[in-house]
Amino acid sequence: MSTLRLILGDQLNSQHSWYNTVSNKTTYCMFEMRQETDYVKHHIQKVVGFFAAMQEFSRQLISDGHKVIYLTIDDSSNHQCLEKNLKSVIDSLNISKLEYQSPDEYRLDYQLKNICKTLSISSKQVDSEHFYTNRNQLSEFFKGKKQFLMERFYRDMRKKHHILMNGEQPEGGEWNYDKSNRNKWKGSPGIPPFINFKNNVDSILKSINNCNIDTIGRFDGSTLTYPINRKQSLEQLEYFNQNLLVHFGDYQDALHNDEVYLFHSRLSFAMNLKIISPKEVVSSVLDFYRLNNDEITISQVEGFIRQVIGWREYMRGMYWAHMPEYKKLNTLSNQNQIPEFFWTGETQMNCLSKTINNSLDNAYAHHIQRLMVTGNYLLLTQTNPDEVDNWYLGIYIDALEWVQLPNTRGMSQFADGGLIATKPYVSSGS
Ligand code: FAD
Repeated sequence: MSTLRLILGDQLNSQHSWYNTVSNKTTYCMFEMRQETDYVKHHIQKVVGFFAAMQEFSRQLISDGHKVIYLTIDDSSNHQCLEKNLKSVIDSLNISKLEYQSPDEYRLDYQLKNICKTLSISSKQVDSEHFYTNRNQLSEFFKGKKQFLMERFYRDMRKKHHILMNGEQPEGGEWNYDKSNRNKWKGSPGIPPFINFKNNVDSILKSINNCNIDTIGRFDGSTLTYPINRKQSLEQLEYFNQNLLVHFGDYQDALHNDEVYLFHSRLSFAMNLKIISPKEVVSSVLDFYRLNNDEITISQVEGFIRQVIGWREYMRGMYWAHMPEYKKLNTLSNQNQIPEFFWTGETQMNCLSKTINNSLDNAYAHHIQRLMVTGNYLLLTQTNPDEVDNWYLGIYIDALEWVQLPNTRGMSQFADGGLIATKPYVSSGS
């Protein structure tokens, strides 16, 4: 019996139980595909980043002794769509069983289920072994409730996983230090330089250009600053602990004209591709805090933990609780087009210019820029949420629909009528 195991581009979890044993009866397959590069116009650094991380992962599997079929975007045998690629590998290797990890995007989950129905071999979906919660946990938690309050979910997560708890009580006496997370940053304390991995991606860039993939954004030079493998991702995490955590909470809601990253971790890309898991991020941050709690206060740590075990898991749960209907919600009937300057950065409105140019230059903007600057403007100008989604889904290196959609359509645009946000943020912008 020969098994084919599919690894999607955001399933680069080397700690998955799949890899505990090496077998010559199991082949792993990974495909760079037009299906994925073209469903929305992505930032050039996002396409490069995904392909670079996928290639690193496949090289690691091979060096660990696993059998891997990897199709690059310009491989002549690449059919550029998942169904044809899978069927072609299944036929050529005489495969008798297909296994795949649960996709996080509804689109791929739906597609894979349909593909499996048409196969003459058996198939099995397994957990991706990444998140704290499973897909349906949040809807079960809020069963019968009209409002899905993040804070309730977050407190339950703290209790369930014994994170920052003193018995049944929150460590430090408060569940949430949100009020101490709203300082302005006025030039000090100094912000350490961001960690730049200088990954050489010349050949990937060449393939993308040869295939005429239509992208957005800018990429000066051919070295990618983001972590693309496990070693780099763990280094990025350690850098955060050593240098940024100490002020993370204080300035997590700050905006500054000249600072792109402030004290943010830039871990979302590594986490969303599952190169590192939220559990290891949380335990590493907690360990560091325990050893350094004379220097690091609980409000810094709680502010960070809330994002990872609270917002990140909550958004995923909301996505699976409300898809596919969620993607069509437009409660405020907003119909305007997204302004042209979102694609060029050419506007005299300073906050918008800074945020959009950051995004075009780095495929990154921090949370407050995404929510309070571009998000508020697009809601205020009654932009169609479909256009808003396409922009956010394309431009950020960490953008995958399960996390982008509830943040954009829900939290920022209020298009879900208040399932996520208690009020439109634009109505309280001070
Ligand atoms: P940090 O500030 O260092 O936070 C640490 C981690 O917490 C992040 O890496 C992320 O994994 C998690 N996190 C923080 N806030 C959120 C949140 N609201 N939802 C889910 N996880 C969160 N995040 C994405 O990962 N992908 C997206 O496509 C995305 N789109 C967004 C769109 C809008 C309109 C808004 C308002 C937010 C969006 N976010 C998205 C959430 C957040 O802005 C990013 O996770 C964060 O900016 C990533 O940078 P960082 O790793 O430096 O984060």
